[in-house]
Amino acid sequence: MAPEHVSIVEVGPRDGLQAEPDFFPSFEKVRLIELLVASGLRRIEVTSFVHPKVMPQFVDAAEVLKAIPKVQGVTFSALVPNMKGCARALETDVHELALFLSASETHNRKNVGMSVSESLVALREVARAGLSAGRRLRGYVATAFGCPYEGRVHKERVYGLVSAYFEMGVSEVSLGDTTGMANPDSVRRLMGKLIAEVGDPKRIGAHFHNTRGLAIANALAAYDSGVRVFDASIGGIGGCPTAKEAAGNATTEDLVNMFEEMGVSTGVDFEKLRDASAHAQKVIGRALPSFTLVAGRPRWEGGVDDNHPCAQDVSKNCAA
Ligand code: ZN
Repeated sequence: MAPEHVSIVEVGPRDGLQAEPDFFPSFEKVRLIELLVASGLRRIEVTSFVHPKVMPQFVDAAEVLKAIPKVQGVTFSALVPNMKGCARALETDVHELALFLSASETHNRKNVGMSVSESLVALREVARAGLSAGRRLRGYVATAFGCPYEGRVHKERVYGLVSAYFEMGVSEVSLGDTTGMANPDSVRRLMGKLIAEVGDPKRIGAHFHNTRGLAIANALAAYDSGVRVFDASIGGIGGCPTAKEAAGNATTEDLVNMFEEMGVSTGVDFEKLRDASAHAQKVIGRALPSFTLVAGRPRWEGGVDDNHPCAQDVSKNCAA
């Protein structure tokens, strides 16, 4: 039997960097994306067309898209909030437009200043423009597992928004745990039925934030529920020092390590991914929330890991 495979959608250059207070220089963004491509990642959300006044980090969206080398089989995606952003995106050769709304009314209003039904009207227009320009569409449902303002979010509401996206021609919908309120049990309850109803695991993605340390546990629960598309951020970038409920996505290299150790193929070269993470860490200038950037992957054959404290000092008893 062929091994199971999962697709990783790398969102670090967008979701991760949008929370970074300091500008990540354009040439370093391009370098980061090149390293991510070199690791074998085939889907990367590279930037955002949210207005640069709202998000100065992405003032260089078009410039970055122009500078990154296009590689056969690699899909570059950009976040598009409205028709204005869409028009800017369509001037570039970005392959995929990522649309977004929140499952919760209050979060949607705070985020985009519209009700959810107004968002749907606006996104339909963006979707039409994107499709007629030959671009693929991805949709996000933010706060799908809970809202920091409203608390519980009804499953039916999330399912309704997923079908609204499909009706407008979106290929895949990613359910976001925007402020890390999900737990493995709530993930199973929401995802299990959804995957069964949609019938195609390639059309549903899982987007977990690590606000309360559960991103990887939630990813495993989603995998067990049949999800095969996972959003993740290199180095786990995305933590915002000033917003206490904002934390990075599931860390790409930690997720890749987990799946590969389980015998689930990701198509990603871990060591090359680690190079990308090290690059992001160097540019950002502080330790990133990544376990495997520090520890690497377990060694199962021969030799001792020279970096392990036991190998450096045999008197240290770390057998426990
Ligand atoms: Zn996110």
